Amino acid sequence: MSQRQGHKFHRRRLLKGLGSLAAASAVPGTSWPQGSAVDTDILIIGGGIAGASTAFHLAEQDRAVVLLERGGIGSEASGQNMGGLGGNGWGSNPNLLSYLTAGGVEIFKRLQVDLGFDMEFRKSGTLTAIHNEEQFEFHQDRVINLRSEGYEVELLSPREARAIEPQANGDLLGYVHAPERGQADPVKSTQAFAQAAAAAGARIRTGENVISIAPLSSEGYAVNTTTGEYRCQTLVLATGAWCGPVGKMLGLNIPITPIRGQMWATAPQPPRVFNTIGSAESSFAWSKNNGADATHPPNLTHKNSVRLTRHLYGRQRQNGEVIFGGDRESLGYIRHPEQAGIEVNKAHATEVLPLLSGLSISRVWSGLMPFSLDGSPLIGKISLRDSLFIVSGLSSSGFGRGPMAGKLVADYIHTGHKTRVLTESDPDRCITESG
Ligand SMILES: Cc1cc2nc3c(=O)[nH]c(=O)nc-3n(C[C@H](O)[C@H](O)[C@H](O)COP(=O)(O)OP(=O)(O)OC[C@H]3O[C@@H](n4cnc5c(N)ncnc54)[C@H](O)[C@@H]3O)c2cc1C
Repeated sequence: MSQRQGHKFHRRRLLKGLGSLAAASAVPGTSWPQGSAVDTDILIIGGGIAGASTAFHLAEQDRAVVLLERGGIGSEASGQNMGGLGGNGWGSNPNLLSYLTAGGVEIFKRLQVDLGFDMEFRKSGTLTAIHNEEQFEFHQDRVINLRSEGYEVELLSPREARAIEPQANGDLLGYVHAPERGQADPVKSTQAFAQAAAAAGARIRTGENVISIAPLSSEGYAVNTTTGEYRCQTLVLATGAWCGPVGKMLGLNIPITPIRGQMWATAPQPPRVFNTIGSAESSFAWSKNNGADATHPPNLTHKNSVRLTRHLYGRQRQNGEVIFGGDRESLGYIRHPEQAGIEVNKAHATEVLPLLSGLSISRVWSGLMPFSLDGSPLIGKISLRDSLFIVSGLSSSGFGRGPMAGKLVADYIHTGHKTRVLTESDPDRCITESG
């Protein structure tokens, strides 16, 4: 076949994919027989980005999948986040982080560009502002190290940064530019994964609050919701900040801590901010002391109600709103936004983008992130029980990392083989019997 014919063939396949997947408009519900248990091969609890991606990648392998979500798809952290996609490319010796970030960007490309879902995804790059000499030296070393490992990142003068982000503050010391990073709309993206899963055959069931789980006498699990019973061979926990309470239903202690993140938005503006924007202040502070102890995960902005550092991330949405956030605080399941933190964050953002001084806050919101105590994700098999998997602990970066985390756990379930990179995220390192 000539190259030209090959191209045509590829395009026909692509259009076929577009028809079958992106055409599925709303997040699907399925009609169910009332009063009888629903049987499936694999049952996923949690309709955030981790669960939805797991469902998509398993359904693509023709596995029978049911996903249960107590609210709507993307109704928790996956729909409430900033929409930033992290990473610095694959590097020369890809580790789990490279897979989750660079692999995640590839999956976003696949759903939006190849399969035709509108997720407002684009590879925007990120600019991280450097405020003082100490931060400059730290990030200069970091960029040199990352580049020597094959990652794509560079240090820019304020002048060069303003050439790609004209509103960036020219009086700061410099900016780290990470061109491989991207952004996407959280709600549209999470729903796109669920729609793609449904189009590939998964049954997506919203409004299903799981209240108990019991092992079946043969093998597998009976999972009860407030409305019915489901039976499965293999169970996947993708319940984000609620892995602790769901783990208890199985007699397990899953040490995932809910961490409140909060955000604010301006009214819609004309296009003015093109990259995702961050600040070097927090990564420098956490390099000195990440604050972790027996009950606190690393890299929080507050500990015991005392601020340790400011943290910043933001972007301009396609609807024109400029949105920013950054605080990460351990408050149990308390989640309402707190004004003082929002004001500190707005002042921080204004140091980087002075145009924000003239714009007021039009809305605020918050959500709960699933932090593990050692800061690493939990992706893989829980050996204390049969046929039980988890994909969680994605902390403050799960929107970007969830798609690949879902693919990795789906591949593990489908093939029975744990890939090398999942050694770093082995859940057995921290999950215990709850006694
Ligand atoms: C303010 C904020 C900003 C953030 N910014 C970014 C960012 O820019 N980039 C980034 O990569 N990440 C970001 N994050 C982190 C990211 O949102 C999370 O890491 C990610 O969404 C976690 O996905 P998840 O699927 O594991 O959890 P979730 O999205 O929380 O999904 C878990 C789902 O499980 C369901 N569930 C729980 N218990 C039950 C039950 N008993 N029965 C049925 N369903 C149940 C919940 O309803 C929920 O929908 C941010 C988070 C917040 C809060």
